[in-house]
Amino acid sequence: MSTVLTDARPALTTLSEQELLFREAVRDFATSEVAPRVMAMDEAQELDPALVRQLFELGLMGVEIPDVYGGTGADFFTSVLVVEELSRVDPSIAVLVDVQNTLVINAILRWASDDLKSRYFPRLATDTVGAYALSEAGSGSDAFALACRATPDGDGWRLSGRKMWITNGREAGIYIVFATVDPDAGYKGITAFVVEQEFDGFEVGKKEDKLGIRASSTTELVLDDVFVPVENVLGEVGKGYKVAIETLNEGRIGIGAQMIGLAQGALDHTVRYVQEREQFGRAIASFQGVQFQLAEMATDIEAARLLVYNAARLKDAGQPFLTQAAMAKLFSSEAAQRVASRCIDLFGGYGFTKEYPVEKLYRDAKIGTIYEGTSNMQKQTIAKMLVK
Ligand SMILES: Cc1cc2nc3c(=O)[nH]c(=O)nc-3n(C[C@H](O)[C@H](O)[C@H](O)COP(=O)(O)OP(=O)(O)OC[C@H]3O[C@@H](n4cnc5c(N)ncnc54)[C@H](O)[C@@H]3O)c2cc1C
Repeated sequence: MSTVLTDARPALTTLSEQELLFREAVRDFATSEVAPRVMAMDEAQELDPALVRQLFELGLMGVEIPDVYGGTGADFFTSVLVVEELSRVDPSIAVLVDVQNTLVINAILRWASDDLKSRYFPRLATDTVGAYALSEAGSGSDAFALACRATPDGDGWRLSGRKMWITNGREAGIYIVFATVDPDAGYKGITAFVVEQEFDGFEVGKKEDKLGIRASSTTELVLDDVFVPVENVLGEVGKGYKVAIETLNEGRIGIGAQMIGLAQGALDHTVRYVQEREQFGRAIASFQGVQFQLAEMATDIEAARLLVYNAARLKDAGQPFLTQAAMAKLFSSEAAQRVASRCIDLFGGYGFTKEYPVEKLYRDAKIGTIYEGTSNMQKQTIAKMLVK
């Protein structure tokens, strides 16, 4: 009997003691510190800098940075848990943490030299926000059609061009910027660079006025002949496409986590509301029609969570996870839209106002099917595994 128990595999949702403790700490922070500020940050379209400082103090901005560099030294799955928990309360603050951990830190962990790690990890772990700059006005889904140009200059490169849609653009001190060293070489010209905000010729441009995740900054970046030393090439010259593809494969698991957290947050508010709201002389939660809607939402979220956790655990186990990550992002972002929309329905007229948090979560849900690869792009990745 004991042998059977020892061999039994835990459920995907079974958390280790350390994961449980971490999740609890993030949940406390989200409830006590983030929740009271959410609507004001949404209206002001900016994150409270005091909250960002607290994220660093709690070790949430350097989850996977090894302890030798001052990071938390945890795994990718822990980053996913952090993003999920923060998203239950505010998907805007969650995406700041998500980009920092699942894109910027992940790219440096995987591709950077020891020199780059020792220069940038201590900063990213303690006080510096990172951003990931691939997209441009003319290149989104077709990311490698980018026009930002890198030309050799002595012991470095000169970068010129414009990036668009860059999350954390306003808060960041360090940017991973993708540029081409040879436009005729197609994707084989793409190279990744670590650029500091203080580099001459670098400027943060226009900030977008958005439908959702309004407190998260989304900006243009302007690079005007920015000199980047040769040591700041991330990975190899001409291999930036690999850096981009592989970090985004991991990053989209983080977006899946953002979407399951958001959907869970909306459902939690709704379950409370339907038990309080009375019509026809009873709580609306007592109607079977309402209960079935709650059941469908809970099932959607559970299915999405299993996809996201499975993809994250495959990544940590060093197993292939490309298709699973695409499925996780596709399903969880579409599920979050279904759930947030249904939650508004169950709040009735109040759901359509800013008096309750579901209105904001509904707006925030829309981004999930767009960034880090649209739903069509996820389907393309999944279909490639089916049709050779
Ligand atoms: C709030 C926000 C934050 C962002 N943050 C970042 C960031 O931090 N860093 C970064 O680099 N980028 C970021 N992006 C950019 C984002 O990744 C792109 O917007 C996204 O990849 C889509 O590109 P696009 O907007 O150019 O749309 P397009 O590529 O023009 O797509 C438009 C439509 O056409 C469809 N389509 C395109 N090609 C095909 C095809 N071959 N088959 C079928 N359908 C197709 C798409 O699915 C979509 O529905 C962000 C965007 C937003 C809105």
